[in-house]
Amino acid sequence: MDAFYDEGQLVAVLTTQPLGRPLDYKAPAGGCWEGAYVEVPLGPRKVLGVVWGPGQGDFDYNKVRPVIRVLDAAPMREELREFLVRAADYTLTPMPAMLRLATRAPGLGEAPSTRRIYRIGDDEPERMTDARRRVLEVLRDLGGLSLTQKELAEAAGVTPSVIKGLAKQGAVREEDAPRDTAFPRLDPDYDGKALAPDQQTAADALRAGVVSGRYGTTLLKGVTGSGKTEVYLEAVAECLAQGRQGLVLLPEIALTSEFLTRVEARFGAKPAEWHSGVTSTERRRVWRQISEGGAQLVVGARSALFLPYRDLGLIVVDEEHDTSYKQEEGVFYNARDMAVLRASITKARVVLASATPSLESWANADAGKYERLDLVSRFGASVMPEMRAIDMRGQELPSNRWVSPALAAHVRARIEKGEQAMLFINRRGYAPVTICRACGHQVACPHCDARMVEHRFLGRLVCHQCGETQPKPEACPECHAEDKLAAVGPGVERLAEEAAELFPEARLAVLSSDLFGSARALKDEIAKIATGGADIIIGTQLVAKGHNFPKLTLVGVIDSDLGLQGSDLRAAERTFQLMRQVAGRAGRAERPGVALMQTYQPEHPVIRAILSGDEEAFWKAEADERRVAGMPPYGRLAGIILSSTESQEVFDLGNAMARQDGPLRRIGAQVYGPAPAPIARVRGRHRVRLLVKAAKGTVLQPALAEWAAQFRLKGELRMAIDIDPQSF
Ligand code: ADP
Ligand code: ZN
Repeated sequence: MDAFYDEGQLVAVLTTQPLGRPLDYKAPAGGCWEGAYVEVPLGPRKVLGVVWGPGQGDFDYNKVRPVIRVLDAAPMREELREFLVRAADYTLTPMPAMLRLATRAPGLGEAPSTRRIYRIGDDEPERMTDARRRVLEVLRDLGGLSLTQKELAEAAGVTPSVIKGLAKQGAVREEDAPRDTAFPRLDPDYDGKALAPDQQTAADALRAGVVSGRYGTTLLKGVTGSGKTEVYLEAVAECLAQGRQGLVLLPEIALTSEFLTRVEARFGAKPAEWHSGVTSTERRRVWRQISEGGAQLVVGARSALFLPYRDLGLIVVDEEHDTSYKQEEGVFYNARDMAVLRASITKARVVLASATPSLESWANADAGKYERLDLVSRFGASVMPEMRAIDMRGQELPSNRWVSPALAAHVRARIEKGEQAMLFINRRGYAPVTICRACGHQVACPHCDARMVEHRFLGRLVCHQCGETQPKPEACPECHAEDKLAAVGPGVERLAEEAAELFPEARLAVLSSDLFGSARALKDEIAKIATGGADIIIGTQLVAKGHNFPKLTLVGVIDSDLGLQGSDLRAAERTFQLMRQVAGRAGRAERPGVALMQTYQPEHPVIRAILSGDEEAFWKAEADERRVAGMPPYGRLAGIILSSTESQEVFDLGNAMARQDGPLRRIGAQVYGPAPAPIARVRGRHRVRLLVKAAKGTVLQPALAEWAAQFRLKGELRMAIDIDPQSF
């Protein structure tokens, strides 16, 4: 039970300001609970904080300032406080930064806001016009329900001034209604599907886990289309039936609307949403309802892990291998791992769902730390697509053409049958390189170690690292030759151009994240494709995930080798996952699908593993390689990223750190580097990285903290610690 502090008692308050440890304040009039969200004075400012425990009493009591006020919000539960502390320890993040992640609700603690709503009034308007009549008709048709001004104006096709006029005359009634209402109840039994036998077995196991009320993690591995979503929604149903809250994490905002519809079909109402696309008023409402139990299910992005659940019983991490779960700015954390941590503290279940799990999760299941459930076949009549390679070494393509005649013939055949084909390339923009044919200069970002990528759709060159854009220059910036800049290499926009020439009759849909102004526009395009409004879908990573296109029977991968270049040890894993995901888009309904992979390296072990579909063999081979190298998940790794505007300065510090590695040597860890970071220059800052490697089971954090504390960061120098880095 949390402590209560009477007025005047000393309390330690953790604030979101970068100060380190909690500071002492006096409890305000009326006292406060441990965990209370409070406003406290800090110098001349008022800042947000949480009562963290009893005060230290290190200072003269009379000089300690009182808490200004206790905010109108349920106190932070001990479970969340413990989670923040342990997540901070694991990621070596200062507590104030951790607290900021948990208080991302604008207007937190203010009294619930209201909005004006309108319903039919008692009086007749003095004068009737067409516009006024429409407003009154809309309201009458609602039979007592109310609308906001905007909704009403839209429904009646009038301007707000018409509504205001009617309100003045008493013909419509204006009222304040609270915004922060609870979410509609979800019914666990609303519309459950009859499950196939293997689905039922998996669902029963997940349900039993939820019923147990104990922590546990399950890897739900199933080929795309096997019904993983249906199965984990059963676990959600059980969680709802137990009266606990559920959280489903998804990697892409683009996926949520499709997903919400599915949840609604299953449980009869929409869940709460939490991601960057949610308005600040709605975020406030969600935050409050979660803490008060008025939201039973949250569907969200990784930051939803830090919400103040009243009783979290289940966390589903869908597409658990997805790299977007790793945050690599500010607080470096992997939402998949943090989900497991939070669940273990709050006695919840975790379901990690994927067709192509991360090697980490595969290994954890292998070691018995996670339970593993497999769905090996697609649901119903649909079967996994056949995978074939197109050996590009034999294909004679004109320059700047990427679709081989063999692939083109297959596409044509599909369209003629009234089916859909997809061309996949994992590169946004028109062309990755803009080169001067006179002097060979390549246009690069002024701030980053990256080329500028031409985007014809935007009519500009764009840096994919920092977002810098510029018009495409007429003359070479280096030698000033006119009209010599040429686009080199394929991007999704260019592929679309080629497809338009190759298949002039076909209706094309191009899907790339930067081609859509809003999540809504993207959603509409996806809906159009799903209902057969396109013959050929041309897309990047965006199309590899989750979407269901029933008429799609052919997937052509333009450049299967792309991910295999470079020195990243994870390249094989990533390529394998991406190719399997893309191929999984084909043949999801009755008609069987084919995936054709254009490759210059048909003998490459990864390509061969993808073609043969022998996943276990692939994972075992990958695991062996990592084990021999002592790399994750068979070794511990941390990255130290140093950055500064001065290149010399970062290398000097990096070298000093590499030399003074005493604290690390004492735990048997080695330091590698400094070397240029995977992205060596971003936004004008030079970045170098040191990698710290230790045996599996080593606790790295205290030694890392001791080591890093030896160095003072002067001027422009910054240091970030990345536990379990994604690339190595
Ligand atoms: P996954 O998440 O493994 O890719 P989904 O859960 O999306 O698979 O299922 C693929 C398709 O099959 C979806 O359209 C889904 O509605 C359908 N489906 C799966 N299981 C069932 C079931 N038991 N009854 C009816 N339809 C199902
Ligand atoms: Zn840049």
